[in-house]
Amino acid sequence: DLLISQISAGEVIGRPASALKELLENSVDAAATEITVQLFQGGIKLIRVADNGTGISRDDLPLALARHATSKINTLEDLQKIASLGFRGEALASIAAVSRLTLTSRGREEKHAWQIQTKDRHLSPPEPAALASGTTVEIHDLYFNIPARRKFLKTEATEYAHCDEIFKWIALSRADIGFTLQHNGTLRRHLRPADPRLRIAAILGDEFAQASVFVDERAADLRLWGASALPNYSRSSRNNQYFFVNGRFVRDKLIAHALREAYRDILHPDRHPAFALFLEMNADGVDVNVHPTKTEVKFHDSRALHQFIFHTINKALASPQL
Ligand code: ADP
Ligand code: MG
Repeated sequence: DLLISQISAGEVIGRPASALKELLENSVDAAATEITVQLFQGGIKLIRVADNGTGISRDDLPLALARHATSKINTLEDLQKIASLGFRGEALASIAAVSRLTLTSRGREEKHAWQIQTKDRHLSPPEPAALASGTTVEIHDLYFNIPARRKFLKTEATEYAHCDEIFKWIALSRADIGFTLQHNGTLRRHLRPADPRLRIAAILGDEFAQASVFVDERAADLRLWGASALPNYSRSSRNNQYFFVNGRFVRDKLIAHALREAYRDILHPDRHPAFALFLEMNADGVDVNVHPTKTEVKFHDSRALHQFIFHTINKALASPQL
């Protein structure tokens, strides 16, 4: 049902940046090594993500846009239940319900690419298209059919800033992938596949790279690596705090607390340290909430984790390798 699809899309796809996140994650899942993002008008007019991943065969194209659980969604309450389970296989369907979506792809076995499009309630049959490899998704006119939702979008500059933020998270999490970002036809970011340290410098800037310590510590099944700002780094703020757990971006109170404690004696309490840190641990030690819009996690041994993060950063700040 289209109405329900639109409501559900509103839950998951709050703004252009949420759609961009889904597309980027799909490209990463498809083993792409090069991903190009083109945005127009902050992504409101157009989000185009092109990758060189595995692609989708002609016969699977309509499946990529199919909603798997439509029949189960009857009420708003149901919708919330499903939201908490994670919308697997729902992202493209949700986006397609509230935009004009074009999906072009060349599966490995195909002699050429195929394209499908959604418009209002209709899904066009696959048509031959030109694309050397991989997949290109275009999302035109997000919320064109839900004026009330469209009104909630902020200015083009604000929506672009949110998209750039998502782009930075994903680019930080996968230094081995090349990424390009354009806005309104202008090149904004170009990142070659790189060593993670160089990728961090490319995203957080050279000043950060110079005014931060690099850590890489292990304890039991835990590993924490990445860069954390020294107190003299002038542009420390909440906006440049990047923390990943097993490659996923998370915001977590426990982690935030451990880091705050690590900086307590050297950073003014009103200031927030910048960092790009990667925690790796056994997958069974952490529950990752699969809701696409949430970035929370639950750790089984939070006490040990808190201590490990605190000690690693505290020690590194006490003896910076300058
Ligand atoms: P999910 O990622 O949870 O499976 P999506 O709605 O995001 O659901 O995508 C649906 C399906 O479409 C994916 O499972 C995948 O098979 C296919 N797909 C989407 N984007 C790409 C892509 N960039 N490359 C290859 N396959 C893709
Ligand atoms: Mg997906």
